[in-house]
Formats: sequence, C-alpha cells, structure tokens
Amino acid sequence: MTMRICFVTFGCRLNRAESLDLEAEYAAAGWDVVQLPSSVDEVDELNAAVPDVIVVRGCSVTAKAQSDCEKKIAQLRIRFPDAEILTVGCLPDAKPVPAYLAPPSLPDVSAPVNRRFSRAYLKVQDGCSGKCAFCIVPSFRGSPVSVPFEQALSRARAYINAGFHEIVVTGCNLCLYRDSNRRLPELVSAIAEIESSGHRVRLGSIEPGLCDTSLLDAMEANPNICRFLHLSLQSGSNRILRLMRRPYTIEQVEEFCVDATRRFGERLAFGADVITGFPGETDADFEATKAFISSHLPFPITHLSSPISHLPFLIPHLHIFPYSEREGTEAATMTPVVPVEVRRARAKELEIIAVANHERFARSLIGQEVEVCVERDGNGRTDEYVRCLLKGTAPRRSIVRAVVDDYFPKTGSLSATIRA
Ligand code: SF4
Repeated sequence: MTMRICFVTFGCRLNRAESLDLEAEYAAAGWDVVQLPSSVDEVDELNAAVPDVIVVRGCSVTAKAQSDCEKKIAQLRIRFPDAEILTVGCLPDAKPVPAYLAPPSLPDVSAPVNRRFSRAYLKVQDGCSGKCAFCIVPSFRGSPVSVPFEQALSRARAYINAGFHEIVVTGCNLCLYRDSNRRLPELVSAIAEIESSGHRVRLGSIEPGLCDTSLLDAMEANPNICRFLHLSLQSGSNRILRLMRRPYTIEQVEEFCVDATRRFGERLAFGADVITGFPGETDADFEATKAFISSHLPFPITHLSSPISHLPFLIPHLHIFPYSEREGTEAATMTPVVPVEVRRARAKELEIIAVANHERFARSLIGQEVEVCVERDGNGRTDEYVRCLLKGTAPRRSIVRAVVDDYFPKTGSLSATIRA
C-alpha cells in the first residue's frame, strides 16, 4: 500500500526550502505526496486523499507564529485522528522525523528536485551565532553550518537542469556562509555563472553589518543576480540596535545602501524587516526608524552624523512586526515595556509609509522593461520582486521581458506586456 504524506510549512524561505527537499525525497521513495484537503467536505466530496502522515514544519520567530503553528497542529489532530502528525523545524517540541518514517536518505547531489513551486529554493546555510536579544532561532537551529561549496553548486545545477530559471539562495543567516575561504559572494557568483539558457539568482534575507561590499562586487560582476536586497534591519535607531544586540549601526546600513544604489541605480529594490515597540523604544527612536525607511519623502533626516536632505534610496518592500515577547529571549525580561497598543500603532504608521514606498517604486517602473519569472498563474515577479500581471503568455518558470504599462495600488501589482 502506498503511504500518503503531506506537508504543512510555516515561516521563512529556509523552512520552505527544507520542506520542498523533504517532500521530493518522500516522492522519490515512492510515497504519495498529497496536498492537505482544504476542508472536511473536500475529503467527502472529492474523496481527497486523507494523509497517513502530516509533517508540520513550524516557526517560532514570534510568539504569534508559534501559537499559529500549535493551533494548526491541534486542528489537524481533530480532523485527521488516524494520521501520524510530525512536528519539525523551529518549534519547541519539534523532533527529527523518526527513522521508521524517514525516506531513505539519498546523497544530496542526487536528491530529487521538487517542482511544486515556480522558483527553486536553494538552502546553503543553517544555524546562527548571533545573540540578538529578541530572537529564539539559534536555540532551534544551533550553530552556523554551511552546505559545501561544490554540493551547493551541483544542487543549483540540478535545479537549472530541471527547468528552473530563478534560484532563491536561502539560509538562517546567509552572510555566515563559509566553505574554507569561500563566502556568500563567491557562492552566489558561482551560481550566477553556471552555464544555462538564462537563469537568475535571488538572495534571501541578509544581515546588515555581516555583509560587506564584496557582495555588491559579486552583484556588479553578475547582472543575473537580482537587483534586490532584503535587509534584516529591525530598527533605525542606534540606541535600539544596541539594546537588540544587533552587530551594526544605522550609519553602516546607510553606507551599504548608498553604495549599492550608486552602483545599481534606482532600479535596485531594497526590502527590510522592522520591529516596532522593542522594549525601551521611545518616540525619538521610533522617529529615527520612520525617518530611515521613508528616506525618499521630502523631510530632513536629522539623526545622522551628517544630516542630508534625503537618502538616495527607497525601501519598497517592508515587513513590519510589532514586537512580541519570546519566552527564553533576553528581551522578554527587558524594561521599560512598550504597551502593545503603542507597538501596534507604530506598526500601522510604518505600514502607511511601506505602501507609499512600494507605490512610488513600482510607478517608477512604468514605461520601463522588466524581467519577470512566470509563475503558475501566468503572472510573476520582476527582478526587483514586484508582483506583475502579464499580458501575453509564456511557459511557467521562464523569465520573460515585458514593458510595464500600469500599476494597481489595490493589489500592489504592475501590469506589463510581454515583449515578442
Ligand atoms: S542574526 Fe539575530 S535575528 Fe537573525 S537568526 Fe541570528 S540571532 Fe536571530
């Protein structure tokens, strides 16, 4: 009898990469990988496959993330009382897959490629040696480890040979990638230089302060490394960055971003994760964060050592998180505590700036040619990671050139016509 297994994945690109790899291994071992029926009715009506095993890959980066996972697991236990439910990944009670349920392990290079998504998620690094006061991740993922250089490269080749044209390089703390004297810039360059009919490399989130200009050198030398940099910024206030135990100052981030913009121009898209309401965050700290992320809006930046009228870069992709206590982290016992309603109000205020930044950046692409990786629904994302509705058709996973003709604020999407 063929065993049926399904995967429920929460959290970051790294979790997604790990689940896709595990899924592919089970499929290669002859298991029937099924999608979770979206409702009990679907099980009855469509006799949708009831899984024998459900693997939940969890995330505990915030208290809410953890409770969402636990709620889901509880629901699954009720809906599928006969299924074996395994919890893996970043969850307090996560356990490795038991041997009797583990697929036969295959040498990494020949591990099957999962074609469920339109872009390939390449895990190259895991673990973190950071001591960030709000973060519980190192307690789940342990010390930094890196996939050997040649193995990562072969895996990238396997994805390209399987028809992927976009490879997302991901890790727990990517900038800690090391294989003897080769670091992240060398690795992404090597992946970008793989011979192919046309592929691009997208970097997952990077930690400011740990990535230096050699990463920009690698991007400059390889135009097929996406002009997209997602920074795990967290705050625009040096005082709060120190309290968070983040290994950089806002001036260092500004310098990196200005250098990157000078090299790649205003088509370069920045993303940033920001936490509001970290313990001790004052109005002035919050104003510093607000000023930093709304750099293109016409008001003076005062907190920098050398105030300038505006910063020559824009952050169109912002992920805003109201601070939430994580038991077991240093910050969980830090004072003064910022009231939850203030954390949320500050997050709301930054969301407004985030939408304005995104619209400003996206509208700057109107009339321009963009490169879009085509997804299942025939639309896709540009090199700058802006959602794009395509006029014309092209094969899934291919990268097409298209001319932008409009922007839809409601969905935050561009529309573009595929060039013949
Ligand atoms: S760098 Fe900091 S925030 Fe990122 S995973 Fe490591 S400890 Fe957590």
